[in-house]
Amino acid sequence: MSHVPAADRYDKLQYRRAGASGLDLPPFSFGLWQKFGTDHPYDTQREILLHAFDLGITHFDNADRYGPPHRAAQQVFGQVLKRDLAAYRDELILSTKAGNPIGPSPYLKGGSRKSLLTSLDNSLRDLGTDHVDIFYSHRHDPTTSLEETVGALVSAVQQGKALYVGISNYTPEPAAEVAALLRRAGVPLLAHQPRYSIFDRRPERDGLLKLAADQGFGLVVYSPLAQGLLTDKYLDGVPAGARAQNSAFLKPDVIDDTYRQRAAALNKIAADRGQSLAQLALQWVLRRPEVTTALIGASSTWQLDHNLKALDFPPLTADELSLIDEHGVH
Ligand code: NDP
Repeated sequence: MSHVPAADRYDKLQYRRAGASGLDLPPFSFGLWQKFGTDHPYDTQREILLHAFDLGITHFDNADRYGPPHRAAQQVFGQVLKRDLAAYRDELILSTKAGNPIGPSPYLKGGSRKSLLTSLDNSLRDLGTDHVDIFYSHRHDPTTSLEETVGALVSAVQQGKALYVGISNYTPEPAAEVAALLRRAGVPLLAHQPRYSIFDRRPERDGLLKLAADQGFGLVVYSPLAQGLLTDKYLDGVPAGARAQNSAFLKPDVIDDTYRQRAAALNKIAADRGQSLAQLALQWVLRRPEVTTALIGASSTWQLDHNLKALDFPPLTADELSLIDEHGVH
């Protein structure tokens, strides 16, 4: 039987406008990068996705790469969409990305028209939908002209395969160029997806936050918990099943004495506010109006429930922000 979503799912979150667009996104969006693939039970993945939707999370972020293996996360989402959420497709903002390598072929990577549009067709098939809501160029490919990459994004919209377009991991200079090219083509840039957290301030330092405000695109920030490092889970070691135990993207050697000191100090600031470090870290990224939504991952429904409570706390004060800077910047 298909899922019956919570009737009060739209009473819980205050949706935030993506830049100058007309699109509202939830403050937290759900990403399927890790632990969504063939290496974890389908039922657990399904339970987390449906729980997210019940909590008011309408936006689910994917990419052709996500798995393992590549493409598997979208296939999992496709099954859930077909079996449980088919009646709610209009209430979902589905995104996918292309351009990061997913195989040895020259057409399975980069920013060419061939690579991006072929990937999009495969993603639509995997997701079981005729369009995505947001189609991203996953990263800047300096060997391909921005005209070609942007042309592929525009074609995706013109072909009805995407409603909006975005870019991810672009530095401000090419991002500004993309925004100008897209504007000229009549397909404004909806969003940029950078990494941003208490531990990673690059979007503040390199001017991306300012560019987003100036150009009117939203920021969909990823890894706001630094993949779990900005929670209390690694304060006393690496717990079984945690990402740092079995991911190519988070190695246990980052959990050293320096990390533990910084995390413990941040944990204390959070405790003094009556919240957890995860809740503090999530509130911290959402304090910026340029940030439309924080893209979070979760390996349990408990993590989702816990993290969404970040929205219940009073804003961070100037003193708290300085203390966070003292311990979070390195
Ligand atoms: P987070 O920083 O939110 O890390 C999420 C992970 O932290 C969870 O999977 C879980 O890992 C752990 N966690 C979450 N909540 C808690 C908690 N309360 N207590 C303890 N541990 C917790 O984000 P991700 O790094 O997962 O990235 C989110 C999304 O962003 C991705 O799924 C993807 O959609 C997008 N992204 C985009 C990229 C791009 O290049 N555009 C690159 C990377 C991500 P566990 O329990 O497994 O240890």
